Amino acid sequence: MMNVRAQQSPKHEDTEFYTPVPPIVTPGSTNAAAPSDAIVLFDGKNLDQWVSVKDNGVAKWEVKNGVMTVNKSAGNIETKKKFTNYQLHIEWLIPENITGEGQARGNSGLFLASIGGGDLGYELQILDSYNNKTYTNGQAGSIYKQTTPMVNANRKPGEWQSYDVIWTAPVFNSDGSLKSPARVTVLFNGVVVQNNFELAGPTLYIGKPDYKKAHGASPIKLQAHGDKSEPISFRNIWVREI
Ligand code: MG
Repeated sequence: MMNVRAQQSPKHEDTEFYTPVPPIVTPGSTNAAAPSDAIVLFDGKNLDQWVSVKDNGVAKWEVKNGVMTVNKSAGNIETKKKFTNYQLHIEWLIPENITGEGQARGNSGLFLASIGGGDLGYELQILDSYNNKTYTNGQAGSIYKQTTPMVNANRKPGEWQSYDVIWTAPVFNSDGSLKSPARVTVLFNGVVVQNNFELAGPTLYIGKPDYKKAHGASPIKLQAHGDKSEPISFRNIWVREI
């Protein structure tokens, strides 16, 4: 007899988990000035280090008062420079007046390696998860749809938050097969939420990820998510190649 379930097409709910819920940890203060050997990707002045993913043209997000704000109609932006293994610091702000719920509340994302247009890549989720229920492997600090953060270290909307990331890129053999998977360590507001997590492949909204397509050094990408909530902002972004 045929397996009926196997014949059904996969659904996005299949890879969304609601328990266990990560415990809440109130973060301490975090200090983030770029070290002397860092490549500064955004210092509050301009988007010279970034391009629009849509057309590889000028990144059209708003820069004002030392902060860049997502322009949802302009789409995702990514770095001109490509990276392999690195340490990265980024700060992000959910507006105080944020509305919406679940995945539609301040959704953005840090693609640790952008491997094509749109949302192709490995996404560290950005979302208001201060008091906003969603699937736990889709909350802030998750590697989207792959793993839940160990704890919930969110600050309130209206307060700046930080990610410090150590990214080890996947390595591919010359025939395109996987030699070693990507790994990531993430500190969220100074608190470890991912510890050398091994990624199963690039992020997928539907279905199980795997390393289908070999790639080399890649840009770092920021997501202009299509939700209807108020756009989020970024500041103080720097990276150190390792
Ligand atoms: Mg996202």
